[in-house]
Order: sequence, then C-alpha cells, then structure tokens
Amino acid sequence: MNKIGQTINHRKKLKQNIKLIHEESLFVKNSGTDVPSGLYEKCPQCDKTINTKLNIENDYICKHCGYHFRMRAIDRINFILDQDTFIEKGIGYITLNPLFQNGYEEKISEYKKLTNLDEAYVYGFGQIFGEPCVIGVMDSYFLMGSMGSVVGEKVAKTFEYAIYKKLPVIIFCASGGARMQEGIFSLMQMAKTSAAVAKHSSFGYLYISVLTDPTTGGVTASFASLGDITLAEPNALIGFAGPRVIEQTINQKLPEGFQRSEFLLKKGFVDQIVNRKDLKKTLAKLLSLHRRVN
Ligand SMILES: [Zn+2]
Repeated sequence: MNKIGQTINHRKKLKQNIKLIHEESLFVKNSGTDVPSGLYEKCPQCDKTINTKLNIENDYICKHCGYHFRMRAIDRINFILDQDTFIEKGIGYITLNPLFQNGYEEKISEYKKLTNLDEAYVYGFGQIFGEPCVIGVMDSYFLMGSMGSVVGEKVAKTFEYAIYKKLPVIIFCASGGARMQEGIFSLMQMAKTSAAVAKHSSFGYLYISVLTDPTTGGVTASFASLGDITLAEPNALIGFAGPRVIEQTINQKLPEGFQRSEFLLKKGFVDQIVNRKDLKKTLAKLLSLHRRVN
C-alpha cells in the first residue's frame, strides 16, 4: 500500500477510534465500580456520580467540582483542533524489544488493541481557530504514556517536521516517564528530544508545552519542561520522582499540594494554568501573537 493509502486508512482508524471512545467510556472501565459501562462515572475528586455522556459533552470536566479527567490523545486532538484539519504524520513505527524483556511484546499488542493506537504518542499538522501548527499528544492510556524509543523518535520528528514546515509546535504531555522495559534506550530519548527542541528553537520557532495530568519522570526532565511557554491544566500532577521517594531521600515532609500545577505556578515552573474550557482560545491567541510573517 502506498503512503497516501496508509494515511487514509489511518485517518479512518482514528475516526473509528473517536466513535469507540464515545461509546464505551474508558473512565467507567477505570473506576473499578459495578456501574454499567457507558452510563455513569464517579469523580475521583468530589466523589459525586456523573453521567458519562454529559461528562464527555462537558469536555471531560466534572460539572460539580471542575475536576479535569484524563483525556485520550484522540479526544484531545478532536477537542483542540479545528474540525478535519488534522493530518497525522509519523505513521508506521514498530516498537521493538531491544532488551528482550519478558512479556513486553504481548503488552504492546494488548495496549494497541485497547487504545487503537500504535504507540503512546500521536503527532501531525493541524489548525486551531485557523492558526496552523504541529501538534503532538501523548496518551496516558497506552502503557502510562511512557517514553520508549518510538515515542522519543516521534517527538523528535515532530520538531523536525515543524522546522521543515516553518511552524510552531504544541505538545500535550501526559506520561509516567521513560519506559522501563527499554532501559537505557528510553533514557537516550531524553537527550534526543531535548536536542530536537533546541534545533527547532535555534530557527526561532515557538514551542508551547501543555502539561496535563500526569506529567512525570523522564518526560518532565526533557521536552515537557523546555517549552518557550509552559501551560498546565488545573490540579495536574507534574514532577520527576514521586513524592514518597523524595520524602524518604531528603527525610522531610513535603508541603501541601506539592507537584500539583498550582504549586508549580507559584514556584515559576509553569507560566499559566489554563482551564480546559479556555485552552483552545488561549493557544490560538498565543499562536497568533507569535505568527511569523516570512
Ligand atoms: Zn467532581
């Protein structure tokens, strides 16, 4: 099959995926309760029961307390980009098992089936209120959005493609960190993605990093923290090591709200916390302010 054929097939797959997500909510699956699939979900923050369909219509925000549920990559693309503007790039990568870890290949195929994605990261061209950009989205439902060789390569390619197209990059980060099954190959991705960000930046192009719940480990320690502008969703967990590890290492109690976006905003790590309802508008504004004339 030629490349165009592949792209068309892939886009069809993405569209099917949107349908799939709306029909059988992953949030219900994850709640661990006996509520029938696709009907109700319990908010982890306020414990109130919410109608899943209404929750999806409300952009996955709890109508009682404003809790921002985690979003699948395809939902995020659907939500943030103008309709039918997304053209996916970087299709056809195959995840290998370089360290011959037991069960890794099976795990990957299981997640492929579950998420209908090839890996934990999707990127491509898109428009936000008519502003063109290259967008990358991590999916925390695919092996905790961990960064292995394929994710790292695709993130690096995101910036290469943006340089070629002379466009800004927006990445929605959501990750448990470097993928432990690929060991040092995962850690190498931190250097590779950081170099790609630096190259894109040396041409003077804009990079906006949007930190969503959760952004941790090797992803926080590389491209997620290198944005010219760093935005975050409310109450998102953002950090490197987990709080328990830090407490044990420094032998001190950590402050209230440690590693949450509000705490990081106060410390200057995040530039702005943006409610999901305002995210599209804010990104479009930033893109138009930084639009290049050449
Ligand atoms: Zn709630």
